[in-house]
Amino acid sequence: MSSLRQTDLEIYSAIEAERKRQQSTINLIASENYASHAVLEVLGSFLTDKYAEGYPQHRHYGGCENVDVIETLAIERAKKLFKAEHANVQPHAGAQANMAVYLAMLQPGDTIMGMRLIHGGHMTHGDTISFSGKNYKVVQYGVDKETERIDYKEVERLALENKPKLIIVGASSYTRIIDFERFRQIADMVGAKLMVDMAHIAGLIAVGLHPTPVPYAEIVTSTTHKTLRGPRGAFILCRQEYAQMIDRAVFPQMQGGPLVHAIAARAVAFQEALQPSFYDYQKNILDNAQVLAGELSRLGLRLVSGGTDNHIVMVDLTPIGISGKKAQEALERVGIVVNRNSIPFDTRSNWVTSGIRLGTPAMTTRGFTTTEMKLCANLIFKVLTHIGDTAVEDQARDEVQQWCHKFPIPGIDD
Ligand SMILES: *Cc1c(COP(=O)(O)O)cnc(C)c1O
Repeated sequence: MSSLRQTDLEIYSAIEAERKRQQSTINLIASENYASHAVLEVLGSFLTDKYAEGYPQHRHYGGCENVDVIETLAIERAKKLFKAEHANVQPHAGAQANMAVYLAMLQPGDTIMGMRLIHGGHMTHGDTISFSGKNYKVVQYGVDKETERIDYKEVERLALENKPKLIIVGASSYTRIIDFERFRQIADMVGAKLMVDMAHIAGLIAVGLHPTPVPYAEIVTSTTHKTLRGPRGAFILCRQEYAQMIDRAVFPQMQGGPLVHAIAARAVAFQEALQPSFYDYQKNILDNAQVLAGELSRLGLRLVSGGTDNHIVMVDLTPIGISGKKAQEALERVGIVVNRNSIPFDTRSNWVTSGIRLGTPAMTTRGFTTTEMKLCANLIFKVLTHIGDTAVEDQARDEVQQWCHKFPIPGIDD
């Protein structure tokens, strides 16, 4: 970034500070990951300069012959990776992908049914703080109070009672396998369409470590930057009969020109995910999550639903009497970055919360094995049970620095 350094020292300095922050912290944010050097290279390329409104071979601009090659490859790779009939790789981010689906499938005022935000759902699934909760009539389902797993009987009851036009499945802080087949059955009972938002678990689905929603849902949306380990962005998969509706909803209904550099980077990430080594990576994510969950629970923390089937561990801090906010801040002081998160039936506000959400994708990318994850779980527990003890925090900070040194970030350090 030598030219940036000369032209804009302020932004250059902030980027360099962020590089240092990323290198010197343990990242347990479940929705983050580290894209490869190849992906970063493409994202920073001159492809960003090209306008390409439309789709391959149907553009509103001249000079799109190379962009057509790029977008076609991205589409073909996405279809191959998830065995889908059609793919749209233009949505700028996950929220936009979901918005496009609603524009394609619904009229304002129609009824949608999605998972409650504080039970693990995403705000674009009908929460009042999002457009989705304002434009549509929303029915929300959640988890059972005892098992803290999706209450399929309740989903069925709510669907029969409210006859939603679209049932939305998918979550941002849910740790269990989702039964897409069951959701399909419920949708069929009431003539609803089924949309699955697999943003968090797309990488696991790509390699078969979580059941795929593709055979069951009319539409599947996803981000590319979570377990999939690609650039920030999104895509939509659908059956052929919905292809034209979805494409028209993305452009020109919702977006203008696509981000060509981002589409190219998505194509690179899909190709990386098609390699055999991607299975090993996803398997390691799961192994690490098992160890993290097992160890934290052995030490005395309560895990929402008692454990995990995926890359996320939801910790209820009630047994040690601290809030999610306090925990997040204490961990950040020693260089462990997490996010506070509401737990189902949380009594604290969503600003303070009773829980933290941990995830293993990013540190698995850096090479953490179950050995480091086990030590890391113990360190987390120690810090959370010694808040304000500067000797403990100083020692923890040293340990974190040693790990960060030993496990460089692929996209930054190679
Ligand atoms: C992360 C996420 C999104 C939104 O992604 P953005 O790219 O931040 O808009 C949508 N749905 C689910 C389930 C997510 O976890």
